[in-house]
Amino acid sequence: MTLSILYRGPLSSCNYACGYCPFAKRTETRAELDADRAALERFTAWATARPDIDLGVLFTPWGEALVRPWYQAALATLTNLPHVRRAAIQTNLSCKLDWVEACDRDALALWCTFHPNETTRDRFVAKCGELRARGVRFSVGVVGLKEHLAEIDALRADLPPDVYVWVNASKRESNYYTPEVVAQLTAIDPHFPTNNQYHASLGEPCRAGHQVVAVDGDGTITRCHFIKRPLGNLYAPGFEAALFDRPCTNDACGCHIGYAHLDRLNLGTVYGNGLLERIPLVICVQ
Ligand code: SF4
Ligand code: SF4
Repeated sequence: MTLSILYRGPLSSCNYACGYCPFAKRTETRAELDADRAALERFTAWATARPDIDLGVLFTPWGEALVRPWYQAALATLTNLPHVRRAAIQTNLSCKLDWVEACDRDALALWCTFHPNETTRDRFVAKCGELRARGVRFSVGVVGLKEHLAEIDALRADLPPDVYVWVNASKRESNYYTPEVVAQLTAIDPHFPTNNQYHASLGEPCRAGHQVVAVDGDGTITRCHFIKRPLGNLYAPGFEAALFDRPCTNDACGCHIGYAHLDRLNLGTVYGNGLLERIPLVICVQ
């Protein structure tokens, strides 16, 4: 059985303060953090006990998780399991990076987001350099806010050409981008046009719910982060029976972590084994 899991535990706090984010500078009590740690350790123990599954994991936390040592430990454990083909995490890359030495770098990947209002480009790029020196696969990206266009350009210029820089389209306002800005952002991220739209998905086949699922801290399985109807529980015997092909029930899908699995977009041919961490097979910089 092949399965990719998007794991999001109860953690909901962050050391950064991005203006558009509900987790900005949110803190949690010791008890809340302990609950997140316990949930993650349960998940890691489950993964360890399932060598029959060819497993990929992407941590998609609400907030920043890599400043918590239990996420670093979970990545070390998961990447060293022979049946885990990939363990990846979304991060603002503010943490120290010595923990990656305990990971199998063939299975580890980081999805790193640059927040120009929260750190300097120099500091962020230096962290990317450290990831390269430590042999870690990673993608880098940024929200495509118009006020950050110069920083996005400079970020692309500061990174080696073989580091993929994605740009997440800001879709809250319709017609936010002029054609010139779309061209500018597409020159940085050739896949920006794919992200800069909602993909009609109602009734469409999607691997989410079959080969890809979302799991929360209690083990509740949903097909993706965008359709909340539970399919079962990861920790219940026989949960696999609930995973089968079914059409999407949402009108549209607008995030990479969702539409990447929509059959008709065929993005497996674009990203190959880098689909979870968002690293395309071919990285072209104009
Ligand atoms: S780094 Fe991410 S989680 Fe933290 S405040 Fe910014 S957008 Fe939110
Ligand atoms: S298309 Fe998007 S919303 Fe629909 S099932 Fe797939 S991931 Fe979920």
